[in-house]
Amino acid sequence: MDLNYTREEQAFRTEVRQWLKETLPHELREKVRLGKRLAKADVELWHSLLNARGWLAPNWPRAYGGCEWNAVQRHIFEEEACLAHAPRSLPFGLSMLAPVLLAFGSEEQRQRFLPRILNGQDWWCQGYSEPGAGSDLAAVKTRAVRDGGHYVVNGQKTWTTLGQHANWIFCLVRTDPDAKKQEGISFLLIDMNTPGVTVRPIVLIDGEPEVNEVFFDNVRVPAENLVGEENKGWTYAKYLLTHERTNIAGVGFSTALLTTLKHVAARVTSGGRPLAENPHFAARMAQAEIDLMAMATTNLRVVSAAAKGQAPGAESSMLKVKGTVIRQELTSLLRRAMGPDALPFQPDFLDGGSNAEALGPDHAAAAAPSYFNMRKLSIFGGSNEVQRTIITKAILGL
Ligand SMILES: Cc1cc2nc3c(=O)[nH]c(=O)nc-3n(C[C@H](O)[C@H](O)[C@H](O)COP(=O)(O)OP(=O)(O)OC[C@H]3O[C@@H](n4cnc5c(N)ncnc54)[C@H](O)[C@@H]3O)c2cc1C
Repeated sequence: MDLNYTREEQAFRTEVRQWLKETLPHELREKVRLGKRLAKADVELWHSLLNARGWLAPNWPRAYGGCEWNAVQRHIFEEEACLAHAPRSLPFGLSMLAPVLLAFGSEEQRQRFLPRILNGQDWWCQGYSEPGAGSDLAAVKTRAVRDGGHYVVNGQKTWTTLGQHANWIFCLVRTDPDAKKQEGISFLLIDMNTPGVTVRPIVLIDGEPEVNEVFFDNVRVPAENLVGEENKGWTYAKYLLTHERTNIAGVGFSTALLTTLKHVAARVTSGGRPLAENPHFAARMAQAEIDLMAMATTNLRVVSAAAKGQAPGAESSMLKVKGTVIRQELTSLLRRAMGPDALPFQPDFLDGGSNAEALGPDHAAAAAPSYFNMRKLSIFGGSNEVQRTIITKAILGL
């Protein structure tokens, strides 16, 4: 296996870097660099810039408006975008729902929904989890009962990320309560503006209403919004999850975070010397860097296998666990580096539209909220405990 980049791949990296330099608006770059909150309009602007260049849908076929990048190109793009402090494009429509529609949806569904994801008409969210159905996802209880040309949906979803901005939700619903758990589930697309849909925010520990509860009360959904076959939704749900987990590895994010951390640790002093020279802090920073380098190599191995057409399997769980632990450690170190400066909670500074000044150095205001927010990484997309079980069984054969 050759892990060196080819000449074409290096040329692609230069092209991406140049485009980011010319196109990413300074204000947006600064928001991301300082860990400020992105508004819906920021995400929409980023999507539209990528779409204008034809780079919004890296893994879609060209026939549907994608750029058909191979895994190596996608990896290079993500690395460069993170280093340039570009926002992350939202995965729900682009890299979660779309692969399912491409693999299992009807041509009508592809023609109807894919262009709307590209041009920003639709904002999708994910309706998998329910109270009582997270790790044990097949325990979903939300019911969908066929009534003529419609399904009537009743139940509740929870932890719905950014559902407050969404106009569509893809849901796992129970269509056969008498079948075995996994065999009575269907995959349904629901317009959030349908009467009977209620969204209620949940505020997370960093003070942000990033997730929501979504309630369905006799919601009538046209039967044409069923993806694939009735009661076969579990297969599609699992297919979507391997895409979700590989995306969470976030090598590019951690690389950018490490760069920031090194920059901060070189400037902040402890006992009259740069923090970077404190033996305890330096050792933790070095360990995080070693872990990141090891994971980046594993990631390249997975990417290289994927470029040859092999689908990521249980490796996606490995990348999910390692990737999220590293990101948590880096945000923890950044918060420590800020010391007391990280204590004041400054929602005004974090709110991108405000001109408020940070009370401490540049990265201080976001250090604690980012640290708290990143605790979520080891829970969502399937908790790390459960991923470890998958690894012990599928990779280690225990
Ligand atoms: C910030 C955030 C955003 C999210 N966004 C979305 C979203 O947009 N859409 C969506 O559908 N879901 C979303 N989720 C839900 C997420 O996927 C679930 O929280 C996750 O799958 C864990 O399920 P649970 O919360 O029900 O915990 P539980 O399954 O109740 O687990 C509780 C604890 O028990 C452990 N545990 C459970 N079973 C086992 C086992 N078999 N072996 C070992 N340990 C076990 C878990 O690891 C965990 O520590 C989000 C969650 C968070 C925190």
